[in-house]
Amino acid sequence: MDLKQFITIVPDWPQEGVVFKDITTLMDNGEAYHYATDQIVQYAKEKEVDIIVGPEARGFIIGCPVSYALSLGFAPVRKEGKLPRETIKADYGKEYGKDKLTIHKDAIKPGQRVLITDDLLATGGTILATIELVEKLGGVVVGIAFLIELSYLNGREKLDGYDILSLMTF
Ligand code: AMP
Repeated sequence: MDLKQFITIVPDWPQEGVVFKDITTLMDNGEAYHYATDQIVQYAKEKEVDIIVGPEARGFIIGCPVSYALSLGFAPVRKEGKLPRETIKADYGKEYGKDKLTIHKDAIKPGQRVLITDDLLATGGTILATIELVEKLGGVVVGIAFLIELSYLNGREKLDGYDILSLMTF
């Protein structure tokens, strides 16, 4: 299935110069969303994943159905101040804006094989911070799955040494 036909390109959003890739038109289509999820489920099986980790909010949209399909846990990575119990933090900068990401301290057990999911790889800042959190807790990042990779932002270079699956490249 050609998934690109389901992505809507929105120029200059949320700010001038950003070409936003809107995945909601893919999610709207049950068959396309199912097909995309299945590709990542397959990848997770190959990588013998123990748990899935995704940054809010679109990392949940990609990771949770994979988690459900494989009866695996899902650990949310959220912006500072959103998780109710003891967390660890990582700073990050992204294509537009800066922030801090957090994860519950007990979300991952040392040695667990982790798949990280997100909708899109842009500069890689979000995923680098997510990797930092997982590794601080002793998790092993065995794969990172995206719907979309923006190759012109070279995020992949920052993730050198990690295995990456991206279903679409722009
Ligand atoms: P980055 O940390 O630069 O890799 O940015 C990745 C995060 O920002 C992803 O979780 C996306 O949801 C969002 N994002 C960044 N750039 C875009 C874009 N051009 N279109 C859609 N989402 C984007």
